[in-house]
Amino acid sequence: MLDEKEIQCPYCWESFSILVDPSEGEEQSFVYDCEVCCRPIDVEVIVRGENVKIRAKNKGEN
Ligand SMILES: [Zn+2]
Repeated sequence: MLDEKEIQCPYCWESFSILVDPSEGEEQSFVYDCEVCCRPIDVEVIVRGENVKIRAKNKGEN
């Protein structure tokens, strides 16, 4: 079952929704191009039962 989650772009700070699939794993990470500025966002999804958390990071960070 896909879950719609809102993320905020770390580059242009616009918010938009993306679809995540909690059945894909408890910890997922992928790159999603911002729908507004098209820059690559590092997206992390943490699934804990019913609780799905999402984090968006600047791909150059760490
Ligand atoms: Zn953006």
